[in-house]
Parts: sequence; C-alpha cells; structure tokens
Amino acid sequence: MEWLDGARCVICLTFDLDADISWRNILRRHNIERDNPVILSQGRYGPKVGVPRVLRLLKKYDLKAGFFIPGEVAERYPETVRDIATEGHEIGHHGYSHRNPASCSLLEEKEELEKGIKILEELTDEKPLGYRAPAADMSENTLNLLSDFNFIYDSSMMGDDVPFIVKTKDKEIIELPIRWILDDWVYFGFNYFPPLEYQSGISSHRKVFEIWSDEFEAVYEEGLYYMLALHPQIIGIPSRARMLEKLIQFMKSKEGVWFASPYEISKFWREKES
Ligand SMILES: [Zn+2]
Repeated sequence: MEWLDGARCVICLTFDLDADISWRNILRRHNIERDNPVILSQGRYGPKVGVPRVLRLLKKYDLKAGFFIPGEVAERYPETVRDIATEGHEIGHHGYSHRNPASCSLLEEKEELEKGIKILEELTDEKPLGYRAPAADMSENTLNLLSDFNFIYDSSMMGDDVPFIVKTKDKEIIELPIRWILDDWVYFGFNYFPPLEYQSGISSHRKVFEIWSDEFEAVYEEGLYYMLALHPQIIGIPSRARMLEKLIQFMKSKEGVWFASPYEISKFWREKES
C-alpha cells in the first residue's frame, strides 16, 4: 500500500519511559515493601542516561519519535519530559503509576488517566493524544475511557500489520499495533532478583539486529508499517543504541521509507479511512 507522499512503508520509533516505577511495581508484586536501591537504579538509568543518548541519536538523523510516559515518572523527572518535548517529540500517556489497567476498578482506572493527563499537560502545555497501556494489558473499560478522554490513538494491541480502527461505545480510536518481536524487553530485559522475572538471558545485539532488520525488509517488501516499542533503560546503553543507529542507517538507505511519529500515522490513517 501507499503511505504519505507515495512512501512504500512507514517506520515509527517509540520509547516507553517506565524509569524505576515498573521495577517498584515488580517488587510489590513479590510482596517486597523495601525499595531495593540496586533494582531501582537500573530503572533510573532510563531518564538519567538512556533518554539523553536516545535524544542525541534521534537528533542526528532528524527523526521525531513518540515517548509514552507514566504520570508518576513525569512528576519525578519533569526536566526529562521537557527535554523530550523541546526536541519536538510526541508525548503519550502510559498510565499514572504504571499499574496494570486490568487490576483497576473503573474509578481507579479513570483516576490513573486523569492524573496522567494533568501532569503531562502541565509540563508540555498539550493534552496527550495517544496512549499505550502499562504492563501490556487493558481492562474491559480501557478503550471506552480512552474515547471519553478524547484520545486519538492507542498503541497497545497486536491485531494487524497496519493501523486499524477500534470502535468504542460512541466513538472510534485509531489503533497503532505493536508486536513482541519489535520490543527490546523481550531480548534484553534482565534482572537478578526477584527470581523468575526477566532472567531469560541477554541477547546478542547481532541477533536482535538480524530480527529487526529482517522484519524491516519484509515490511518494506509488502508496503506495511513498522512500530518499534523500546525502553530508554534497555536500548539506551551504548552498544544497544549503536545497534539501533545501524538499523536506522539501514532503513534510511532504502528509497521511500517514511519515518513518522505515532500521531502523524494516526492522522494519515484517519484521513485514509474516511
Ligand atoms: Zn511501560
């Protein structure tokens, strides 16, 4: 299919800035009330080092990405949020406390959305237009709540090779699907403790480059859409950021590749479908 200005395929780079709160949530899930400083510092690497490195990389190639940020992370790292917004990247909603929406009551989920919107709007002067569900899960209320709060797009589901329309109770939302093979956690997410959480091993960058570039070649061939869902604390370490740079160079070496932010893709899809 044809994308904007006759482009052959579209590439979207997104970063979920979970920082330390997703690790705190993992500790709580294991009934550990103590905030283990080593585990949390692994998450804090994201805003402290990962984001600046990713921003430098995006700037070098003049790319605009989407960053999905939990409200609680935005409150604790306001300068990081401002830096991302100042560089012209899009900021999306990623819950408030990164709590799994499926574990929330309707009221709690509504509060998570409200608090997240409020802090992102305070820091960027704009309401977030997009949402990515924390913990890769949704409740039966999530999509209806997203349309109540006038979100334009969601990027949490996995049901197609291209964007699609999801009907909510009284509106429609554009879905920008993700897929596990284009996520960095599944290859690199590692921690020593708690046991049985992310101890699957640390992948070779070459293996991941091979999977991501093979997927790009297939997407390019078929004229589809390619959404990378990354995490600054994971992809932002030196060798992995270098691998991402090689991937960007490889994609840019082909004709007709459109790099777009999530909102730009949702806008294109909305116009195409109407
Ligand atoms: Zn997350």
